[in-house]
Amino acid sequence: MLAELSLKLIAEVQCAAELLDTQSRICILTGAGISAESGIPTFRDKQTGLWQQYRAEDLATPTAFERDPKLVWSWYQWRRQLVHEKKPNPAHLALAEWQQAADKNKQNVTLVTQNVDDLHEQAGSRVTHLHGHLWRNRCHDCGTAFENETKAADSSKAALNFDDELINCQHCSGYIRPDIVWFGESLPEQAWQTAEDAAANCEVFISIGTSSLVYPAAGLAHLAKQNGAKLIEINPDPTPNTIVDITLAANAGVVMPLLMQQITALSSQAQDQL
Ligand code: NAD
Ligand code: ZN
Repeated sequence: MLAELSLKLIAEVQCAAELLDTQSRICILTGAGISAESGIPTFRDKQTGLWQQYRAEDLATPTAFERDPKLVWSWYQWRRQLVHEKKPNPAHLALAEWQQAADKNKQNVTLVTQNVDDLHEQAGSRVTHLHGHLWRNRCHDCGTAFENETKAADSSKAALNFDDELINCQHCSGYIRPDIVWFGESLPEQAWQTAEDAAANCEVFISIGTSSLVYPAAGLAHLAKQNGAKLIEINPDPTPNTIVDITLAANAGVVMPLLMQQITALSSQAQDQL
């Protein structure tokens, strides 16, 4: 794998590893790009099949749901079908491994995601979801959680239901919708507080696979910077973001395992010297 990477990238990863090795409070924000190598399209990717004519940004809004609930529900049922068998890729796995190692080294690695998939959890990470969960539902009108038949707890395929018939709430007869934060809606308070605290108090902020266009999540990097943190970005198509200190311009599935390897090597060198 190393042979495929440019010397420049390898040197930058080394530089990031050296920085991370000396710091104990790390905040990581992931976006749709980290799941791209697992086969889940980002919002910037063109939609496929029946949904080609729609832009994701025009479907993921409360106004779209109020105008045409069936259309938006069908789109999410289609996305659920697309996502349900997807597995974590080496980037998710490396992050989970890092969190587990960090617990032992007294490093604090807070993982925050904009993603609504559960690939971080599948990989074994503790993660704060800023934008909700694809596999949960609630009533659009009264907010009551709807017991989810779309993904059984044991993930058995037999129990999956991707039916695109609308469901009515048992309390108020409003429509059931995915428990996702749509464009224009507020973020869950507790999750936002966790993210804000981690960003404001971290020494290094790493942004992975996000276009940094969706606020308020995109503001977390600025908050970290204002409080003195160094910023690392991992994205094959880096954002024109002037506040970034180290840019690792490659796929997260390639960069993250390499970064972990180098961090582990540095900490075992330090152990040997003790
Ligand atoms: P985005 O679609 O706006 O941007 C994705 C970014 O990932 C781009 O900058 C792209 O260059 C980068 N990228 C693509 N492949 C990559 C790779 N292999 N490694 C690293 N980076 C890669 O995504 P966003 O910034 O997360 O914002 C869009 C919104 O869409 C979010 O609110 C999120 O909830 C939602 N969304 C979630 C999922 C998911 O849960 N998997 C998928 C699509 C959209
Ligand atoms: Zn209701």
